[in-house]
Amino acid sequence: MTDLGIAFKDVFGRAPEGCWAAPGRVNLIGEHTDYNDGHVLPFALPQTTRAAVARRDDGLLRVHSADMDGGVVELRVDDLAPGTGAGWATYPAAVLWTLREAGQPVGGADIHYDSTVPVGGGLSSSAALQVVTALALGELHGVRTGRQELALLCQRSENVYVGAPVGVMDQTASACCTEGHALHLDVRGLEQRQVPLDLAGNGLTLLVADTRVKHAHADGAYASLRAGCEAAAAALGLPSLRDVPHDGLAAALDALPDERLRRLTRHVVTENRRVEDVIALLDAGRIRDIGPVLTAGHLSLRDDFQVSCPELDLVVDTALDRGALGARMTGGGFGGSAIALVPVESVPAVTEAVQAALPAARIFAATPSQGAHRLP
Ligand code: ADP
Ligand code: MG
Repeated sequence: MTDLGIAFKDVFGRAPEGCWAAPGRVNLIGEHTDYNDGHVLPFALPQTTRAAVARRDDGLLRVHSADMDGGVVELRVDDLAPGTGAGWATYPAAVLWTLREAGQPVGGADIHYDSTVPVGGGLSSSAALQVVTALALGELHGVRTGRQELALLCQRSENVYVGAPVGVMDQTASACCTEGHALHLDVRGLEQRQVPLDLAGNGLTLLVADTRVKHAHADGAYASLRAGCEAAAAALGLPSLRDVPHDGLAAALDALPDERLRRLTRHVVTENRRVEDVIALLDAGRIRDIGPVLTAGHLSLRDDFQVSCPELDLVVDTALDRGALGARMTGGGFGGSAIALVPVESVPAVTEAVQAALPAARIFAATPSQGAHRLP
């Protein structure tokens, strides 16, 4: 038995039926665009959340995490309902409830989790937890869904059950990414393309710095930003900010009633453009040239969308100062992580400088890795 299987047996007193893994993600570019029907370009991290699972036939869901205090959380499947919070166990409970809501024949289970994805670091440990749960329960119960459908189900579980109005990027990245690629997702039509991202072959490293800061207002701010984007689209008479044409930004800004809506709109429209620019550069083999586009994305998030924070700005400025080709915050903002595209020869200098500037930061190199999968 694997280490994960042994841990499951220690908790639940029997062997698991199977083990699965789902990765965290970083977003290369395309921030706060997913809930505006726009473009995103994430890739999967090597760090994963793993789940060992066995079905139960008594209507109980029992979950345990090596990363959380409090032991086994036991819930009755029939009692699951949106808004019934159970701490971290709300995430797996939400996934199980949503699978059943979708008419899938999924019942109780024992699940043991562990994770190498930093929790609360803006690298989507929450999506990894959802996706590994949905994949494991789905496969054990013979559910036939595609990966994008699985991601949508996880998003729905977070929107409806957990009560967070998140977009679909994180779950799609965890479910659908492939090794050696970033994933271009056009959220409007849910079209996907795997875009080759050969960092090492181009003498580059993508450093991630988890600031280990999470400012308290993050969740409320997210909902308000989303509402602001929707208000801006409505004021322009458009279904979403995705529909502002590239050459129509100035006219759109003129037509908006206040400065906040103008700032939000400018970020979303220019950010969609940056995703397309980065993809064109990657397709042309000009990977080093994406650096300035990443940095421009950071400035837009800092100044227009206003979701950065001093710690993220410090990482970005320090990395650029020490030789990074580009750097930006990644994820929703207000803390979490930043990324820096760094020539291999500059990695020690950038790492040292960022660590010195922010001693609590956790810094690692990210390689584009595979999406969710069953473990041997
Ligand atoms: P992020 O997704 O950026 O890591 P979130 O705040 O969205 O941060 O999600 C973190 C939450 O997800 C945790 O507070 C916990 O409820 C849940 N979670 C993530 N990973 C695990 C894990 N390994 N075990 C239990 N719960 C987890
Ligand atoms: Mg999350």
